[in-house]
Formats: sequence, C-alpha cells, structure tokens
Amino acid sequence: MNSLSDAKTVVFKVGTSTLTYSNGKPNLRRMAKLVSVLSDLENQGREIILVSSGAIAVGVAKMNLDGKPKELEAIQATACVGQCELMFLYDKFFSEYNHIIGQMLITKSDIDDPERHKNLSASLNRMRKMGVIPIINENDSIAVDEIVYGDNDQLSAQVAKLVNADALVIITDIDGFFTADPSSDPEAKMLTVVDDITSDMKSAAGGNGTSRGTGGMATKLKAAAAATEDGINTVIMNGYDPEDIFKLFEGRQIGTFFKAKKNK
Ligand code: GLU
Repeated sequence: MNSLSDAKTVVFKVGTSTLTYSNGKPNLRRMAKLVSVLSDLENQGREIILVSSGAIAVGVAKMNLDGKPKELEAIQATACVGQCELMFLYDKFFSEYNHIIGQMLITKSDIDDPERHKNLSASLNRMRKMGVIPIINENDSIAVDEIVYGDNDQLSAQVAKLVNADALVIITDIDGFFTADPSSDPEAKMLTVVDDITSDMKSAAGGNGTSRGTGGMATKLKAAAAATEDGINTVIMNGYDPEDIFKLFEGRQIGTFFKAKKNK
C-alpha cells in the first residue's frame, strides 16, 4: 500500500526554501505549524527525526549580509550563526508542545568512517529511546567538501538508513516529482507513485537548486533512490502548508510516493 499510515520511525527533511523567506529570515508561521504537526505525529506514537537545512540562509539574514558569502570561510562562519538561531527557534516551538530536542551536526566522514558511523548511530538511537527528537544538519562550519558538493537530501537518506526508518519525507517548495521543470514546461506532469526511478526521470530532475539552499530535484531523486533501495518508502512533497503532512499519514495521496524496493 502506498501509504505511511503504519510508518513508525520517520525521517523528515525540510529545506531552506520552506523554512525561510527569500530574504533568509525564518518563516515563523510555517516553522510553528511544522513543529506542531511533527509534535502531534510524535504524540501519536511515531518516532520523528528531523533533518533541517536553513543555517546558512538564517545566518545571512541575522548578520544583515547582502547574500550568501562567496568565500568558504565566510560561509562556514555564517552557518555557525544561523545554526544557533535555527535551534533556538526549534527549541522554543517544540518546548511549547513539551517535546525535547537534541542537535546533531554530521559530516560525510561521520557516515563513511565505520567507527564514527557506529558512534553516530548509537547516540542517535539512544536519543530516540530517551524520547528526544533529533534535529540534524550537516556540520557546515567544518565540512569543506560538504558545502561545495553536499546537500541535506542525501544526508537525510543516510540518516533514514542509520535509524532503520520506515519512511523518509522530503519537504520542499514544489508539489512533488515532475516529468519536466513545471516552472518552464506547461506539459510537465507530477508523478504520484514511482515504482522504479528511470533514466528519463534522472534527466528530468536536472541539476538546479535554489540560490539559498544547495539541493535541487536531482539530489532529492538520488536520496529517494538510496532510501528505497534500502527498503524505505520515500515521499517528496510541498511544505507550503505543513498540515498536508497529516494527509500523508492518513493514507491520502500527497506529493510523489517512491515505493521501497524491498521489504524491511
Ligand atoms: N546545510 C545547509 C544549511 O543548513 C543547507 C544544505 C542544503 O540546502 O541541503 O544551510
């Protein structure tokens, strides 16, 4: 069944474009709604893990910079500032619903190195056992390669594997996966259910992200491929109204549903 109604452990990934206005300032109304929805899913007995972008954009706005800095060290410093602000807001909103959060900043090497992978997985799973909602981002202030090549879409698929998630939900600023770029091609159609990721889909995904986040549809498709290969159902959906997430868990059709390639 193409539904997440029975999904217990769920990794959500939310992008910069959903969390912030175009000036980089946090979209407080949306963040508050998102946190209220995730808190309610947690109250239903599900285990939520959130991978959140937004640090760099929020840092840019907080420091009144003209835009995302070009120099790597300045990007790293900006991420340090924005990450604090982001976590302050999450803590404030989740506390309203009596949920405890814990921050985890990860680099690609934490996933690749077997010893660090083990430690990471242990602390992540322990947080969940203790009822803490982990909020994860890439460690932008030290991960040089990450800022140049990385993105939270693929990180979220790795996290979903680490916690043996039942589902991965990628929340973005577009309704789902389209056969072409809907902003330039009126013939573009949204796919509702995907059994197999085809080469046509890969070329339709293109490579562009927004100027504020780093991912685009291509990185989301790669994340969906990695997660579904591992038996994790994956959804790409629009975060414009976070309450739509409830519909997903009620078994209604929202966004694009990528079916897991094997049973877990
Ligand atoms: N880690 C980056 C941030 O918090 C965003 C990466 C992404 O957009 O995927 O700003």
